[in-house]
Amino acid sequence: MQSFWPSREEFLSRPKRVSRFFVILFIFSATLNALLGFTYLYRETAWQTQKSKYEQLVQSNLDLANEYKAERDDLQVSVAEKNVQLTKLNQELKTARNELAKAEQSLATLNDRIKLQEAQLASNSDELESLRGRPPLFKVESLTSRDVTADKAEVRSIVESAYDVIDSVYGNPYLLNQITINFVDSFNIAGAVGEISIANSEAGIEITIKLRNFDKDSSNDVNTIVHEIIHGFHGIAALNAPVLEEGITVAATDVVMRKMYEQGIINFNDPYITISDEIASQINSSYSTPSGNSSFYSSSNVGVYYQLAGWSWYQLYEEDANFFKNFNNSLYNLVQNGTRVSASGVRNLIKNTVNSANSQSISDFVSSQISFNPS
Ligand SMILES: [Zn+2]
Repeated sequence: MQSFWPSREEFLSRPKRVSRFFVILFIFSATLNALLGFTYLYRETAWQTQKSKYEQLVQSNLDLANEYKAERDDLQVSVAEKNVQLTKLNQELKTARNELAKAEQSLATLNDRIKLQEAQLASNSDELESLRGRPPLFKVESLTSRDVTADKAEVRSIVESAYDVIDSVYGNPYLLNQITINFVDSFNIAGAVGEISIANSEAGIEITIKLRNFDKDSSNDVNTIVHEIIHGFHGIAALNAPVLEEGITVAATDVVMRKMYEQGIINFNDPYITISDEIASQINSSYSTPSGNSSFYSSSNVGVYYQLAGWSWYQLYEEDANFFKNFNNSLYNLVQNGTRVSASGVRNLIKNTVNSANSQSISDFVSSQISFNPS
C-alpha cells in the first residue's frame, strides 16, 4: 500500500513519465477552454446579431424621430402662419367694427336730420294747407304800346268767372298767390298763342300769362287763358312729363269750357279735343310720346300728342266727374310731403283714383295708353 504522499526518495525513484494528473488536468483545461471559447463565440455571434437588430431598431427609431421632428417643424411653421393670419383677421375685424360703428353713427345722425326735416315738412305742409284755401290775386298788365284796354277788361271778366268753374272741376290750386296777365307784342316760342311763367315767392306761387290780344268771343283766346290758368293751378306740382301735364290740362280745359258755356259765361261750346275714339286708338298704336320737354314741344307731332293725351285724360273724367279733384288732392298730398312724383307715380295715382276707363280695367287702360307712358 503506497502512502498518498510518497516520500521524496520514492518519488524520485519513480520512472519519469507524465503524471495522469497532468493529463487529466490538461484535458480538463482544454475542454474548459474550448467550452469558454465556444461560449464566447456563441455570445459574440448572438451579440452581433442582437447588436445589428438593435442598431436597425435604433436607426428606425431615429428615422421616425426625424420624421416626427420634420412634421413638428412643419406644424410649427403652419401654426406660425396661422397665427399671422389670425392676427391679420383680427385686425381686419377690428377695422370693420370701427367702420360699422362709424356708419351706425352717421346713420343715426342722418336719421335725426330726417326726423327734423319731416317735422319741418309737416309744419310747412300745414302752412301750405292754409295758404291753399286763399283765392289768388288777379292782375292785368300791359307791356305793349298797342291799346289793349278792351282786351284787358274782357280777359279780367273771363278769368274771374272761369276761376270758380276751374276750382269746382280741378279743386283748389296747389299754391296760387297771384295771376298776372300781361299783354305783349311777341312770344319767346314761335307759333305760341300764349305763354305762362311760374315763379315761387314767399307768398306762394305767382303765374304770369302772356297774351298778344284777347277777345272773349274767340274760342281760341278763351281756351288759351283757361288752359294756362289750369297749368297755374298745378303750379310747382305740375306733372313731371309734358305729355302728362298737357294731357290733364287739355282734358280739364274742355270740361271747364263746356261748364262755362252751360253757365252762360261764354256763348260757344267748341271742345279742343276733336279726335274720335277710333282715331285715338290708331294714334295710340302708331306713336310713342317723348318724356323730355324739348323733344315733346319741338316735335312735329306735338299737335297729335295734345289731342291723344287730352282724349286719354278725358276718359278718366268721363268715368268719374270728380276724377280731377280727387287725383289732384292725392298729388298735392305727395308734393306737400316732399315726394317727387315720377311718371310711374302719376300712373299709380290714376289707378288709385278710378277703377276703369274706356270699358277697360284702369290697370289695362293706363298701361296701354302712350299718353301715360312717356319714354
Ligand atoms: Zn299747356
